[in-house]
Amino acid sequence: MKQPLLSIQNICSGYGSIQVLHDISLEIHTGEIVTLIGANGAGKSTLLMSIFGEPKITQGNIFYEGVCLNQLEPHKIAQQGIAQVPEGRRIFPAMTVEENILIGTTPIGPEHADKDKEDVFSLFPRLKERRNQRAGTLSGGEQQMLAMARALMARPRTILLDEPSLGLAPLVVKQIFEILKDITSLGKTIFLVEQNAFHALSLAHRAYVMVNGRITLSGSGAELLDNPEVRNAYLGGKTQRPLNP
Ligand code: ATP
Repeated sequence: MKQPLLSIQNICSGYGSIQVLHDISLEIHTGEIVTLIGANGAGKSTLLMSIFGEPKITQGNIFYEGVCLNQLEPHKIAQQGIAQVPEGRRIFPAMTVEENILIGTTPIGPEHADKDKEDVFSLFPRLKERRNQRAGTLSGGEQQMLAMARALMARPRTILLDEPSLGLAPLVVKQIFEILKDITSLGKTIFLVEQNAFHALSLAHRAYVMVNGRITLSGSGAELLDNPEVRNAYLGGKTQRPLNP
């Protein structure tokens, strides 16, 4: 089998004396959508942030395209071709949509900014309509689109997304997940952390379940959707139907 694009090997991580992640191993291959589901506080965000170098792992190794990320600073990790869309979006509310998008070029410089901005505007026409509007006046769904657009401006090959559905209405969640599919069709690889297990497992090629900082299950998205343990813990005990399948 081909070498994984991102390989996480037996990592531990946490905050000061609080260990959150315990011996986590997982891998992501080029072109995949891989999701990590788990309850509130399981450690999902900590894993995404640890891949990005903050907090630093205390054990194990993280390799991206064969390069060890363990000791790299976050900006160096971004330069390897990884972008993060953090939980809560972290947009700059007083700046315009376009200014927020342009900030995304920071890891690679402004050389391709004009072309790439037009490319993200064709992926997110709503943002183009609102390009001169202050980002703080956007709806939650539009702010999520803005965070994704900003991440794409760094020309990443891999995007780490933390709870893109957080706080959004069901139809908007559906829209955001459709856009994720469009992003993978551009050749990007996606690692998606979600509490919205149904949508995440429906979209993902493969998935992992995290409980109390440990990976307890893994399989294809379809296998985990069918798994009774997953259904009971994360899907309200039954198989749900997608919105407007
Ligand atoms: P959520 O879905 O609520 O974001 P999560 O699965 O992403 O949950 P984390 O945010 O990674 O979980 O949190 C895992 C544990 O680490 C929790 O117990 C949390 O309180 C703790 N934690 C998170 N950030 C910090 C921090 N900066 N300092 C200390 N503890 C933290």
